[in-house]
Amino acid sequence: MIQEIAPRRFDPSYRRQRPKKEDYLLHYEYNKVMLKKENGIFSLPRFAQVEKEVPRLEEKAEYLFSIDERAYFGVWDMTCPDFTDFVMEGLQIFQNFEPMYQAFAGITGSQIYRWRQSRKYCGCCGSPMAPGETERSMVCTACGHTEYPKISPAIIVAIINGDKLLMSRYAHGVYRRYALIAGYVEVGETFEECVRREVMEEVGLKVKNIRYYKSQPWAFSDTVMIGFTAQLDGDDTIQLQEDELSEAGWYTRDQVIAYEPCLSVGHEMMAAFKAGKIGS
Ligand SMILES: [Zn+2]
Repeated sequence: MIQEIAPRRFDPSYRRQRPKKEDYLLHYEYNKVMLKKENGIFSLPRFAQVEKEVPRLEEKAEYLFSIDERAYFGVWDMTCPDFTDFVMEGLQIFQNFEPMYQAFAGITGSQIYRWRQSRKYCGCCGSPMAPGETERSMVCTACGHTEYPKISPAIIVAIINGDKLLMSRYAHGVYRRYALIAGYVEVGETFEECVRREVMEEVGLKVKNIRYYKSQPWAFSDTVMIGFTAQLDGDDTIQLQEDELSEAGWYTRDQVIAYEPCLSVGHEMMAAFKAGKIGS
């Protein structure tokens, strides 16, 4: 999965520190990220590489997180320098990027960027907001209203029926691979209740023996995914919610596809089912 970067260690704790020349710089514009492109190879830029192109670069940098001893900083207020090795690339480049821990850093930084961009003004009084002094927050300069990073919990569930797994395809968007049933947690709902509701809404089935599998930060959609396995309870007739899904069905282990690279908890559960590690 994309966050599995061991033996490297991700440290998201809040710090106030200034960039060093070897630290990494993350700059985004809408759904694009600035990368260094050299001999056709993309990499995250370091401060030493960008500072001669952009004035007052270090003053603009905001500490985001570290991986091992190396820090990653966001620089929001700049433009990608023209006629250089630096290029803006769509964030989907991180779905297939080497080394993978840098893809995780790049996509995680984009989540903080989107949150910063969408919290420039206070939702209560409309005044400008500014970064908090003691924690990762945005605080209204007039009324003090405080906002924290946007992280939306969503469940994803591997529904098992004997030797078969339920897989589906989305009706909308560019994603055409098979997926497991998933959905956002509603206000006032437990994760387990969310599993039961989403399964009933999307495929009209009842489930039992809901068991926690693993969780996963999924910055592509500002989400944290909470993965579960569950057993079908009763009738296996699928009633498709056609505005969400284009198809859904029961698949045996040899029919399940193990997608590579295995970035998401959903694909990991599909691979685990195929390998007989879950559901037997
Ligand atoms: Zn306010």
